[in-house]
Amino acid sequence: MKATGKWQRAEGARREEIFCYLPSAICKSLRCLHILALALPLACLVRGGDSLPAQNLTRNAIILVLDGERYTETWGDPEHKYIQRLAEELAPQGVILTQFRNNFLTLTNPGHAALCTGHYQELPNDVQQGLWSNPLQKNSLLPAQPSIFQVFRKETGAPASATWVITSKDKLQILANCRAPEWRGQYMPSTFCGVGGQGYGSGYADDSATMENTLKILGRDHPRLAIINLKDPDACGHANDWNGYLKAIRTCDDFAAQLWRFIQKDEVYANKTALFITSDHGRHTASFINHGCNCEGCRHICCCALGPDFKKGAVSDTPAEQIDVAPTIATLLHFPLPTAQGRVLTELFANAVEP
Ligand SMILES: [Zn+2]
Ligand SMILES: [Zn+2]
Repeated sequence: MKATGKWQRAEGARREEIFCYLPSAICKSLRCLHILALALPLACLVRGGDSLPAQNLTRNAIILVLDGERYTETWGDPEHKYIQRLAEELAPQGVILTQFRNNFLTLTNPGHAALCTGHYQELPNDVQQGLWSNPLQKNSLLPAQPSIFQVFRKETGAPASATWVITSKDKLQILANCRAPEWRGQYMPSTFCGVGGQGYGSGYADDSATMENTLKILGRDHPRLAIINLKDPDACGHANDWNGYLKAIRTCDDFAAQLWRFIQKDEVYANKTALFITSDHGRHTASFINHGCNCEGCRHICCCALGPDFKKGAVSDTPAEQIDVAPTIATLLHFPLPTAQGRVLTELFANAVEP
């Protein structure tokens, strides 16, 4: 089942929330339309055959990307030595996806772009300052299609502070924009990428700073959508530092647990927020130092999903991939994502109902 081009809106209550960003006069007329819409057969609003979570309590979604963690050191390790908090504390509260893959370019920028747009695409992966500073050439660095951030802001009228891209890697500022002419420079999310949050060309920030800034931004702005990138597993891998790589996975594991605890203690986020913990790519099966090919080590990555609409303590071995995350989030938050190529991960939903 593909999610392409669909509007999944089945609940009246959710529309009120979308409209809350609009002036009250507009809200009133939209509410009239809303009543009319409810009179239409449900099949007109939701494409036949798609399952929705029974209650649909999710109001916010956060993607945490642990850069370059290989499956064999995460869920593929039967003892879960380096992801103890995920395995013991978080997994009982969510779903582990054991067959989750990057099925296109196993590099940082394309992997993150696939997660945010639901669309696989070729993208330059190295920092190219000359291109970034030239308005005409900058396009070539950007994703081809709009992200969940841009579409969400357009559909809801939400301010930039409602969507955030927070990344240790400065080059991931590309996730804030895209090159589709009707979207370029429009509805962009807030960003804090690279050193000091200064963006493309500023260099890689320490993960500790990214973690600190993430909690600060989430606590202050309570974004409805956010992506966070931690770089150290990948950076230590490229440095041929095996012990550093394992230590970085453990640090990321600590932060994932810290983030989930923060979400569940925060009065805005608690029991209303989905969290996807995943990677942009793995690492070569034969060597942990690099990545970028189509070997199993590069393609097979970790993914764990927690949230009020997801099963608890479940394991899914249904094949899933990076482009499925964005359409799943779009469905949960009730906005269209027609450019996504992936499917909605209905196997995550607790008590899914057929419309
Ligand atoms: Zn990466
Ligand atoms: Zn490989």
